[in-house]
Amino acid sequence: MLLFTPGPTPVPQNVRNAMSDETMHHRTPEFEAIFEKTRKHLFDLFATDEVVMIASSGTGAMEAAVINLCKNTLLSINSGKFGERFGKIALAHGLKNVEIKNEWDTPVSVEAVVNAVKENSDIDAIAIQISESAGGLRHPVEEIAKAVKEINPKIMIIADGITAVGVERIDVTDIDCLIAGSQKALMLPPGLSILGLSDAAIETIGSGVGYYLNLASEIKKQRQNTTAYTAATTLIIGLLEVLETIEREGGIGVLYCNTARRAKATRAALEAIGLHSYPKVPAKSMTTIDDADASKIRSALKEEYGMNVAGGQDHLKGKIFRINQMGLIAPYESIWVVNAIELILHRMGRLEYAGIASKVYNETYFKTALEQKEI
Ligand SMILES: *Cc1c(COP(=O)(O)O)cnc(C)c1O
Repeated sequence: MLLFTPGPTPVPQNVRNAMSDETMHHRTPEFEAIFEKTRKHLFDLFATDEVVMIASSGTGAMEAAVINLCKNTLLSINSGKFGERFGKIALAHGLKNVEIKNEWDTPVSVEAVVNAVKENSDIDAIAIQISESAGGLRHPVEEIAKAVKEINPKIMIIADGITAVGVERIDVTDIDCLIAGSQKALMLPPGLSILGLSDAAIETIGSGVGYYLNLASEIKKQRQNTTAYTAATTLIIGLLEVLETIEREGGIGVLYCNTARRAKATRAALEAIGLHSYPKVPAKSMTTIDDADASKIRSALKEEYGMNVAGGQDHLKGKIFRINQMGLIAPYESIWVVNAIELILHRMGRLEYAGIASKVYNETYFKTALEQKEI
């Protein structure tokens, strides 16, 4: 089965191999050396002042960020299920929550955030997805962060980059907390989350909030290349292998470039066969198509072509399908996906198969590759 869901994503064979060795004790010089190397790579990837790894799924890092960085009122941006989650976390911890809610295809505007911040001086943190995976959209996080810092530099900007870190270069100048999760762009099994933090965030954290998710305890330990509680050793070993693999394959810049090209080529290919891209501003992490036959297309992909793409949740259930673009994906796999969709549409009587999708994919993907003289 070809796994083409925007999380979990396929784990490369060499990474699975790296994780198949004997379990290592976490309080040993051997593991601390691995931890240190992984941390160094993470500093390059995140470009933040500090990085912290936590044994939890991505939501654990979202919760850690909210409780440690918001003391009063959180402004959460809800253009989908993950944005909604930030608000729920705030309320679960007795914090106040102000929400800006939009349809799942609509990114928040900088203006709406600026107005909300100006209207409510209790807001001390903003939580937003860079790529909101519910509908595959891209929020203008960097612009929002800049505008908010101009109003009040003390407001903490929490950016959920679970489907953005490892997908594209993120300008962290005005971002205080950047979150990543193992099972999306980082090509690992689920269970590890990572937070990149600014010096201002560390100051705000102070002695920290909570117990397991107290970031002050973790920062202190992780600066010594260890963790407050048992580290997710196997996943961290896997993470080091992922980060070294990215480097071997030409570096993170090449991965960003290939991901952008793949996203562009997939969208162009599917639009060329009459399909419609759902989000008003698509993220590079996934291609989201809204279609009356979304469910049928998805089932046919699975049953007849052995590929798993994701559907939609809540009110978008059965109305969209989402194709992953994150990680190291061979172009021939992506080409096969768009070709299979064209074949399915042919059998539904919606078009006459002509190999258009794969042609457009190839043109879009490889022409830019030749122009950029990367090969
Ligand atoms: C997957 C995802 C999460 C949640 O991560 P879990 O690992 O399921 O807890 C949060 N935000 C975004 C944007 C995601 O795609």
